Amino acid sequence: MNFERIKEKLNILADAAKYDVSCSSSGSNRKNKDKGLGNTGNGICHTYTEDGRCVSLLKILLTNHCIFDCAYCVTRKSNDIKRAAFKIQEVVDLTINFYRRNYIEGLFLSSGIFKNADYTMERLIAVAKKLREEENFNGYIHLKSIPGASDELMYEAGLYADRLSVNIEIPTISGLKLLAPDKKHEDFAKPMLKVRNEIIRHKNEKKLIKSTPKYAPAGQSTQMIVGATGESDKDVMYSATYFYKKFNMKRVYYSGYVPVMEDARLPSIGTQVPMLRENRLYQTDWLLRFYGFSVNEILNDHHPNLDIDVDPKLSWALRNLHHFPVDINTADKRMLARIPGIGMRSVHKIINGRKYRNLNWEHLKNMGVALNRAKYFIICNSRYWERRDLDSERIKGMILQNSTGKFRNQYSDQLSLFS
Ligand code: SF4
Repeated sequence: MNFERIKEKLNILADAAKYDVSCSSSGSNRKNKDKGLGNTGNGICHTYTEDGRCVSLLKILLTNHCIFDCAYCVTRKSNDIKRAAFKIQEVVDLTINFYRRNYIEGLFLSSGIFKNADYTMERLIAVAKKLREEENFNGYIHLKSIPGASDELMYEAGLYADRLSVNIEIPTISGLKLLAPDKKHEDFAKPMLKVRNEIIRHKNEKKLIKSTPKYAPAGQSTQMIVGATGESDKDVMYSATYFYKKFNMKRVYYSGYVPVMEDARLPSIGTQVPMLRENRLYQTDWLLRFYGFSVNEILNDHHPNLDIDVDPKLSWALRNLHHFPVDINTADKRMLARIPGIGMRSVHKIINGRKYRNLNWEHLKNMGVALNRAKYFIICNSRYWERRDLDSERIKGMILQNSTGKFRNQYSDQLSLFS
């Protein structure tokens, strides 16, 4: 083995993979068997770089050669960069060696498109198959599915991978046409649908026949780049909701566009990566999935973009003050979850705690409620917090005054991106 060449390939192909953030390894419970290597069941620890990207997996491309020319991608064929391609065995060896040295807990393997979708997908599958069948590797494997890959290959991929993902990349169809004219919406939808159907089928069969093999046990995910086209947050979240519902996505990831090349269709080099916007989208995603909000409540024609200076739940509450104050001791679960400063864990503690006593500020504080935000929106068994004459602007100002959020210093910089 030529180690220098492998090192060079690793530098090129790990660097090219860093723009993909859909590498969370949650949700799988593959157990170690036959004294094999790895075990996702004990929980893979995630490590994130400063800019929020996951590094706990060996995260590489099989190749950065690509027949397509997506404007937002460093790997696009017209970009003048160093190219490289791993052999199948090289990726297998790297994964096993890194795993043994405790550098990684699994593999995240993506690829540019070699000749066509199927040819590339076959090679990705071959890596996973070798790891599972020849190396007895039971660690986590996330395979990127190549848009346009056949149903047969998508089926096979799910037998070896814990998670599969096809990146939508651009949240709107018009944006996709503009920036990735080689790709069609159906190229994403078809493999996603196949994976969704196979996951359901395997789960159902497993209930009847214990020996049914696992199929993509950590489900499927996708990623959207935000800030590359002029899409609104409303566009992004409606698109995400569609993919969650239609394809049973486990996660949708939002990746702020990193300007890496000059192109008249894209923000110019030097434009700041919209990290705070990315963070607000994740918060919204969370509210939609776990807090019972609908997209329309948070984002609509009157309010198409998320506030940058406050989180989406607080923003919603400030626009809907007529729902407040909420009585902590009588409100239903749905309304408790809508109070700024109260997370789902606190909601459950409140519901449980108020069975035994009427809750006051002290109880709420001990339950982990962020009273500096919640106090403007609730009443409890303590003196009522004086809200008279406080309109939404004044409440927001008072909350921001006491804010210590990690993005606080970025507000002014980020706001300029949305002017
Ligand atoms: S197909 Fe994928 S790797 Fe190729 S240019 Fe488009 S985004 Fe980049």
